[in-house]
Amino acid sequence: MNILVINAGSSSLKYQLINLEDESVSCKGLCERIGFEMSNVKHTTKDGRKFEKQIEIKEHKKAFEVVAQLLVDEEFGVLKSLKEISAVGHRIVQGAEIFKESAVVTEKVLQQIEDLSFLAPLHNHAQAQAIKAAIETFGEEVKEVAVFDTSFHQTIPKKAFLYGLPYEYYEKYKIRKYGFHGTSHRYVSRKVAKMLGKDVTSLKIVSCHLGNGSSICAIENGKSVDTTMGLTPVDGFLMGTRCGNVDPSCVMFLMKQENLTVSEMVELLNEKSGLLGISGVSSDYRDVKKAALQGNERAKTALEMLAYQIRKKIASCVAAMDGVDVLTFAGGIGENSCDVVISICKNLKFLGAEINEEKAKETVGGKSGIISTNNSKITICILPTNEELLTPKTLKN
Ligand code: ADP
Repeated sequence: MNILVINAGSSSLKYQLINLEDESVSCKGLCERIGFEMSNVKHTTKDGRKFEKQIEIKEHKKAFEVVAQLLVDEEFGVLKSLKEISAVGHRIVQGAEIFKESAVVTEKVLQQIEDLSFLAPLHNHAQAQAIKAAIETFGEEVKEVAVFDTSFHQTIPKKAFLYGLPYEYYEKYKIRKYGFHGTSHRYVSRKVAKMLGKDVTSLKIVSCHLGNGSSICAIENGKSVDTTMGLTPVDGFLMGTRCGNVDPSCVMFLMKQENLTVSEMVELLNEKSGLLGISGVSSDYRDVKKAALQGNERAKTALEMLAYQIRKKIASCVAAMDGVDVLTFAGGIGENSCDVVISICKNLKFLGAEINEEKAKETVGGKSGIISTNNSKITICILPTNEELLTPKTLKN
């Protein structure tokens, strides 16, 4: 059984073809810069065949055609026919309070995803378009399923998801914390429980997903009880280009002083802030670290802010659960940058956390393992996430 997992952005389309028998990825790739003059297409198969080309892709429909062709291509393909695809899973950013779990796409579901664009203007519309394009490309007979980044967080209690704004705006516009990266936090919590030989319902877990976009989640009895991202993914702590928590007054002040429109302000908060905005160097952790090592003061400050803010957010998740058994790290930074993980954990002594630095240095590049000492009161793990794998698992159930 083959499942095609799609992660669409407004100008990109990432895909993985997953073989459900052994959960292996037969091939994966991406089309980026969709809608630009030329798009980059990259495709890699499990046995190492690589395709890379610039192709004119004006919209998602064309991107799906390119992907479909690559899947069955004589030289780069992994399927004989597109009929071998049993289902297409789409990662959707915002499911709000409507989608507490994944949903098989119907006309109504598609419309609901589109209607939720007002809560996620940068994502939901593009993702609804991608679903439509997938239906046109693969035909009505292939099941399309929507998997929402927000669903896992629907167990967060009201005291944690409401903002201190007039209640009528929650009723009128559904303004509240939704949280994102749900598929990642869910995957990691199940996986770590399995790794430790424990039942997920017996653990208090703080899951740190640290990538370009980052969030931390408090998971008690297997359920999300709080998380750092909010109404949108801009909330929380410093990310690649997103600011994380700021006093809302900064927004009003800047709009007034710099004469910014709403969309310019949205762009500033989402695309010009974070590691990029503070360092002035890059949104990519590796570049910022390199600059810091070369003596760039702003880059050094950005890295200090990152570790400091993460530590404080971990503590707030511990407070939410009145304790913690396991602390996990995942995402591009969490899985590869042991210096960030070490610098965060070194200052969690008040929790009785003790990191084994040697182990942390070894557990990089996709490895998973325990990186705390035997004396540590909490178990610290690095556990690579696989958000895509959860999509077919959802389809299977
Ligand atoms: P996204 O949120 O886009 O999925 P990723 O999870 O791929 O992002 O994480 C991207 C971040 O991970 C970048 O800041 C990048 O610098 C960092 N990263 C990726 N690989 C490495 C590595 N080998 N060493 C250090 N940092 C890395």
